[in-house]
Amino acid sequence: MNIHEYQGKAVLKEFGLPVSRGKAIFSADEAEAAAQELGGPLWVVKSQIHAGGRGKGKFKEAAAGEKGGVRLAKSIDEVKEFARQMLGNTLVTVQTGEAGKQVNRLYIEDGSDIDTELYLSMLVDRATGQVAFVVSTEGGMDIEQVAHDTPEKILTFSVDPATGVMPHHGRTVAKALGLKGALAKEAEDLVTKLYTAFIAKDMEMLEINPLIITKDQHLKCLDAKISFDGNALYRHPEIQELRDITEEDEKEIEASKYDLAYIALDGTIGCMVNGAGLAMATLDIIKLYGEEPANFLDVGGGASEEKVTAAFKIITADPNVKGILVNIFGGIMKCDVIARGVIAAVKAVGLQVPLVVRLEGTNVEEGKQIIRDSGLNVIPADDLDDAAQKIVNAVRGGK
Ligand code: ADP
Ligand code: MG
Repeated sequence: MNIHEYQGKAVLKEFGLPVSRGKAIFSADEAEAAAQELGGPLWVVKSQIHAGGRGKGKFKEAAAGEKGGVRLAKSIDEVKEFARQMLGNTLVTVQTGEAGKQVNRLYIEDGSDIDTELYLSMLVDRATGQVAFVVSTEGGMDIEQVAHDTPEKILTFSVDPATGVMPHHGRTVAKALGLKGALAKEAEDLVTKLYTAFIAKDMEMLEINPLIITKDQHLKCLDAKISFDGNALYRHPEIQELRDITEEDEKEIEASKYDLAYIALDGTIGCMVNGAGLAMATLDIIKLYGEEPANFLDVGGGASEEKVTAAFKIITADPNVKGILVNIFGGIMKCDVIARGVIAAVKAVGLQVPLVVRLEGTNVEEGKQIIRDSGLNVIPADDLDDAAQKIVNAVRGGK
């Protein structure tokens, strides 16, 4: 689960980490009061969306123009003006995709005097099974670009969970960032507190970009991007409260109600598959034959007819879907349950696009019979290869 920058900073503050003062606002009217309370003389008006690259992003509406989703304001009037321009406007960044994201909240923050911008992030490294730190002197910019062009400028190490964070980890970070004396001490303290926060809140990823050195030589977390491990959220009701579903894909919200593993993608072929591995293979083979999948969906092993119906409705509700591929290898999942779920959904919402069904495994004959008896215009397929070619042909208008 992702949260907004201002929420992330509040979490970091609880753990004693250095962040700027700021106020989240939801309407332009609140901007003036927030700016007055902070006092100035420099403010930053920051769009709050669940995507990075806001500073270099562009608004769709011309009024806010080319100036980006993070703007420095030198007066309260400017704060008000920027707030009016940003709120309700759609911000497009490298991370939002072309559609962009509507800005419904702003964070008005104290402006910092920046001396240097550094990079620090933490994530659960699946390869080592440990929490890893990633640090670089090249902060404030696109870290993927740095990793590509000058990988030697990025240092990565992981922390053994048996010992937890140790003073030498802090010294390693300070050295990598070229910090000495009092600043090195601050870095050591920062590393300890970040690790403590990361573990305590079951974070999945924490990115501070930039971590800055202020002109008066202190460290500060100027940006905060945090995501939490969804499987551990039940332990953190206070984090669950920070969820902003307006930032999430509607189809994914609907799928989460039925406990379906569904991820929306950009393509045209909707997929309903059982098992994550088979679902990934299905996406791969669709791409192999030259089309793009509209979603990842694993209906799971023990899905009920109701769950299958819900899944099918979510797929058909996506206007980008030009064809549907149902690929079921029935083990625990029974083919007849899938067939009944698909038919119930089609009866409820209709079927406007070609549907290819490949069934194999437990109760396969029963499943196929149910589909034949339904009179639905289903294109049957013998195996995955055949199924993929048929759905690709169908969305291209072929037979
Ligand atoms: P994003 O990563 O989404 O572009 P950031 O929060 O990193 O958003 O802001 C972009 C840039 O704006 C930063 O790299 C920094 O230079 C500047 N900035 C952000 N917050 C402040 C602040 N409180 N004071 C001064 N400059 C800031
Ligand atoms: Mg940033």
